[in-house]
Amino acid sequence: MLAYLEKLVGQQGLEMIKRLSKNELTDQQIAEETGSDLNTVRRTLFTLYEHRLAFYTLQRDKETGWMLYRWLVNFDDIERRLADDAHKLISKLETWLDGELNTAYYTCDNNCGRYTFDMASGYTCGYHFVCPVCKQSLHYDDTSKLTDTMQGKISELKTDVQAIFYPENSSIFELVKTEQE
Ligand SMILES: [Zn+2]
Repeated sequence: MLAYLEKLVGQQGLEMIKRLSKNELTDQQIAEETGSDLNTVRRTLFTLYEHRLAFYTLQRDKETGWMLYRWLVNFDDIERRLADDAHKLISKLETWLDGELNTAYYTCDNNCGRYTFDMASGYTCGYHFVCPVCKQSLHYDDTSKLTDTMQGKISELKTDVQAIFYPENSSIFELVKTEQE
C-alpha cells in the first residue's frame, strides 16, 4: 500500500503525508506543519485530489480579501479507491493496446494523420499511399516500441494493484491513519 502511494506522490510526498495532521489547512500551513517545501505540498495535494483522497474548501481571507484553499485529506477506504483508479487505467490502456495491435496504421513523415490500410491504399479514399495533406508518401506506422512499453506498464499496474491489497508495509500506514484520528 505505502509502496503504491509512494509511486503516486513520490518519496517527499509520502514523508509529507506521514507528518500531516487531520486539520483543514492551507498549502502554506501544511508546508510549515510538515516541514515540506511548498512545491512538494502542492504536487502531493493535487495528486491526492485526483484520486479523491484530498478535498478543499474555498474561503475568503478576511484580512487580505484573497481566496484561500483549505485542504483536508481523507484516507478512508484508500485501498479500494486506489485499486478502482488503477483498474480503470488498466482497462483504458488495454483498449488502446487492442486497437494498436489489431489494426495496422499508415502515416507520412510529417505525421499529418493516421490511416488504416483501406484508407491509405486508396480502397476507400483514393489516397494510393500519398498523404492527402502534405502529399508525401504514406508508410506503415510502426508502434511496436510503444506497444511493448504499454504492455510492460499494464503488467506493472496489475502487480501494483495486487500490492495495494497485500501490503508489506501496512503497519506503517495504519500508524499514519491512527495518528490522524
Ligand atoms: Zn502528411
